[in-house]
Amino acid sequence: MGFEEAMERFDPVLGLEVHVELSTATKMFCGCPTEFGAEPNTQVCPTCLGLPGALPVLNAAAVESAIRIGLALNCDIASWCRFARKNYFYPDMPKNYQVSQYDEPIATGGWLDVEVPAPEGSDAAPEVVRVEIERAHMEEDTGKSLHVGGGTGRIHGAEYSLLDYNRAGVPLIEIVTKPVEGTGSRAPEVARAYVATLRDLLRALGVSDVRMEQGSLRCDVNLSLRESPQAPLGTRTETKNVNSLRSVERAVRYEIGRQAAVLAAGGRVHQETRHWHEDTGLTTPGRSKETAEDYRYFPEPDLVPVAPDPAWVEELRGTLPEPPAQHRRRLQAQWGFSDLEMRDVLNAGAVPLIEATVAAGASPAAARKWWSGPVARRAKEDGVDLADLGITPAQVAELQRLVDTGRINDKLARQVLDGVLAGEGDPEQVVAARGLEVVSDDGALGAAVDRAISANPDVADKIRAGKVAAAGALIGAVMKEMRGQADAGRVRELVLERLGQSG
Ligand code: ZN
Ligand code: MN
Repeated sequence: MGFEEAMERFDPVLGLEVHVELSTATKMFCGCPTEFGAEPNTQVCPTCLGLPGALPVLNAAAVESAIRIGLALNCDIASWCRFARKNYFYPDMPKNYQVSQYDEPIATGGWLDVEVPAPEGSDAAPEVVRVEIERAHMEEDTGKSLHVGGGTGRIHGAEYSLLDYNRAGVPLIEIVTKPVEGTGSRAPEVARAYVATLRDLLRALGVSDVRMEQGSLRCDVNLSLRESPQAPLGTRTETKNVNSLRSVERAVRYEIGRQAAVLAAGGRVHQETRHWHEDTGLTTPGRSKETAEDYRYFPEPDLVPVAPDPAWVEELRGTLPEPPAQHRRRLQAQWGFSDLEMRDVLNAGAVPLIEATVAAGASPAAARKWWSGPVARRAKEDGVDLADLGITPAQVAELQRLVDTGRINDKLARQVLDGVLAGEGDPEQVVAARGLEVVSDDGALGAAVDRAISANPDVADKIRAGKVAAAGALIGAVMKEMRGQADAGRVRELVLERLGQSG
């Protein structure tokens, strides 16, 4: 069913579960390193492989991050809490249980204010939606399965599966919202804005590198529909592991249409997990959802309870960054952006990128020009989030420096950008490898100017006779010969000088 029609008939209710991998040096319960991208099964030990007799020891840095996240989300921090075993079998989890928290999470009952940008084409101020946080708890990540053969990368149809336990035991914080009601047809944008705001907050806290495409921030999107805002909550589905901001919005939009069609035809929505398909923009059924009882939770007997000293919690409160909305207002004033400019960069998810580009030496105006201009266009074409496009703020700052120092012009800068995005290295390297530098050396330019004059004798005569406007044709000929790499201002001077029109 179309989105508009679905919205006329039903009221959506969202719920978002975000798993964030902490950027601690070591895992949650052992001393193994956590770096992304290592050779499979090289960052493992008896504890994270679940070998009999191996005992866990809690990572204090992970608890510190958990508390800081809880505080930043305005939660109450438990003065005493425990870990629990969540029992289920899956090959990526060799212990056959995940150490998580169940009825005693470290943080409960908070909120996050989310600025939802005004719709495209409206210059209204962003709408602030308060998303209530149910809980944030600590747990460990699972390993990774790689299903080989069958084409889809999923287990169905695969010939065999490989397992990498490097990720098993990496510290995770799971952040769960309360049902988000009353967003109406803006539900997809609210979901996206929540994840974006949370990502900015976690980045500012310095607790995670929050890279959705690498899986260090993963979002499960719960959605249900009901006939009216007064009706009881409908049956929800949980779309797992949606891995970009854009996909969060699309997944909500798709599920609204799909569930509306099921309900309108008199059917029932099944409580189940669903897979998100990036390529088609569809969700398909996963497993029917377990209930908490299925997991046979019980307190983890190998770990002592966590009882953070209240003085320590207060000390950590003192380390919190500015809340995201306040931070953005301060940046806008510092950068001198208009409300409209700020809304556009906010919409594009470019605020932290511009911030980092400015820190790397670019002016705010130049940083904005790149991130909301050519870079944003490429991200849109490729269907990825700006931050995942593969150009860093430092590279954008370097690109601008090359323009400012006159070594490349705007036109060449686009080609340098293409090179960086194609993985050819930093802007300097692309300029060198592709030979893109602007030529302002009089020897090379003078020779090209002389060739242009002898090839166009009638134009040259006009200029000699005082028709200076005709110089454009000769400048164009030189630029063409030098593939746009000539310093156009200097070429003009040389043409006029040669034809007796200078000074
Ligand atoms: Zn280990
Ligand atoms: Mn979890």
